[in-house]
Amino acid sequence: MGLYVILMGVQGAGKGLQAKLIEQEFGIPQVSTGDLFRAMQSRSDALAGKVQALMAAGILIDDDTTNAIVADRLAQPDAQGGVILDGYPRNQAQAAFLEAHLAGKGTRVNAVLLLQLDLFTAFKRAFGRVTGADGSSYNYYFNAEGVDFSWVQAAESRYPPRLEARLQSGAALKRRPDDASADAIIKRIDTFVETTQPLIEFFAAKGVLRRVNADQSIDAVAAEISAILAALPAE
Ligand code: AMP
Repeated sequence: MGLYVILMGVQGAGKGLQAKLIEQEFGIPQVSTGDLFRAMQSRSDALAGKVQALMAAGILIDDDTTNAIVADRLAQPDAQGGVILDGYPRNQAQAAFLEAHLAGKGTRVNAVLLLQLDLFTAFKRAFGRVTGADGSSYNYYFNAEGVDFSWVQAAESRYPPRLEARLQSGAALKRRPDDASADAIIKRIDTFVETTQPLIEFFAAKGVLRRVNADQSIDAVAAEISAILAALPAE
């Protein structure tokens, strides 16, 4: 048995952050396929190279590779009481794989939390975000206090200017490589709309879909999620 929760929502809806909060409150680990793939960046084998190139372009990794990585993660000892899936499943084939995989373990998806956010806000949350070495987070559009943002034009002006950020106290801030390109973010948002949206119908038909307004404070979103999960029928 256990608690299997899927977090769905466009990039920038706050899935990663909310997953961490659920992890703390309900004692089940977050399984983010984006994080699992990013962890491969320190490897230099052929599979890792392919994954890096696709991620940098904002393109989805193939289903077989993704499903195998998730199945491997779900077999780990810390995942036996359930998990919070973040960034997976991203399409119908992955959802079908997950359903069959969990059925094989005698369990199922208990809740699909859909964090709803308009797409322009989603773009600004992803494109504008920068993080400090201590994990602190800022945003060009929403939370720029204490940060100097600048648009830096490469010497060769074939490329658009890059957004760089530095704390006024001096430390440089980082952007995720896949957030640094507006084109890659738009592609990810388009992919979400085209391929992930049908999953919403799929899970709604199974009666496990729960909608959460993601355009609120982190605490307000967390409180809604917590109430939904606490009210799930005991298995
Ligand atoms: P994320 O951190 O969830 O935005 O994922 C970053 C990138 O990892 C995506 O743009 C894809 O290239 C890859 N990725 C993450 N999850 C999946 C998935 N479920 N299926 C295919 N590719 C994925």
